[in-house]
Amino acid sequence: MIYEKAPAKINLTLDTLYKREDGYHEVEMIMTTVDLNDRLTLEKRKDKKIVLKVEHRYVPTDHRNLAYKAAKLMMDRYQIKQGVTITLDKAIPIAAGLAGGSSDAAATLRGMNRLFELGLSLEELSELSAEIGSDIPFCVYGKTALCKGRGEKLTPLPKPPAAWVVLAKPDISVSTADVYGALKVSSEDKKIPTTQCIEALETGDYQLLINSLGNTLEKVTIEMHPVIQSLKETMQKAGIDATMMSGSGPTVYGLASKERQAKSVVNALKGCCKEVYMIRLLG
Ligand code: ATP
Repeated sequence: MIYEKAPAKINLTLDTLYKREDGYHEVEMIMTTVDLNDRLTLEKRKDKKIVLKVEHRYVPTDHRNLAYKAAKLMMDRYQIKQGVTITLDKAIPIAAGLAGGSSDAAATLRGMNRLFELGLSLEELSELSAEIGSDIPFCVYGKTALCKGRGEKLTPLPKPPAAWVVLAKPDISVSTADVYGALKVSSEDKKIPTTQCIEALETGDYQLLINSLGNTLEKVTIEMHPVIQSLKETMQKAGIDATMMSGSGPTVYGLASKERQAKSVVNALKGCCKEVYMIRLLG
């Protein structure tokens, strides 16, 4: 039996550069991982089936699940003759902008590689994973990186300085496609400080890091769901160092250098948000 952890990601930055001919947006984003993990176990089967067990009413257990897709891709590409049972224990909120599904798919690829002793490198797994989702190559490595293209072209970066992360997931669902559909990039928009964020990571400068967060999609998602703005304001009033929406939302995260500070932000969020997590940056 193989055991794999699938950590959630947050976007330190997310910049959309232009819409490409294939319909995707060319993006530039810095992603890192946080200590909030789905847990997967993988076991060989005697038959050739992929059996996915998930106890969560909003998560499909068939071909629509990214972990299932990842297992199928591995079986087809490497002519694996045996089946697999994957037990997925979800902790990452669903459709939250935290890449839960992508991280499960990445963990499945790593797990299948070990279970069937395929000897593939992370680089090979990452390349393969781009066939099923743009965020999965990042999740295969699970380390801080600059992600370009659709998100699949990675340049590794140093991990961020130690910090507490407060995650607040409002009780709404956001469709990534709707957010990108409503996106209008204007010259008046604040520039996303990607280069400055890279400098902050390279120098390990926490003060610079908290001034280097940015997400082009934040404004669009806030227009659809003003609750995101109020969560940010609650965090700011409670003394967080910086807040930003992750991915296409709706999860908002805040960074805090001190545990006490993070705890008072968590307390301030009680009553206005049911899903709040206080965790560490993993990087
Ligand atoms: P991203 O940040 O990459 O946009 P997300 O965190 O917003 O991802 P997910 O949690 O991956 O979104 O789920 C989006 C949808 O995908 C869900 O509504 C769910 O039906 C489906 N889905 C497919 N596979 C999974 C999975 N392994 N875990 C959760 N949801 C999944």
